[in-house]
Amino acid sequence: MTIERNEYSYIIHCDHCSEYLEIETDDWEMVKEEMKMQGWRIQKDENDCWENVCSVCARIPGVLKISLKGELK
Ligand SMILES: [Zn+2]
Repeated sequence: MTIERNEYSYIIHCDHCSEYLEIETDDWEMVKEEMKMQGWRIQKDENDCWENVCSVCARIPGVLKISLKGELK
């Protein structure tokens, strides 16, 4: 999980491509909300580490390990 923390923002990097999302807040709860709104996902990988998946990669079959009711396809 690649997350850069700046003074006033978080930069979330996709673990599957070079996409990133900059969110101007210092509140981690807001970051999670914003990621969700933009179609990003956080999931555990096979090593039990958290990984970020951008809205594009979330639509690639096999990338998401969790099922999202009605959101894919
Ligand atoms: Zn991606």
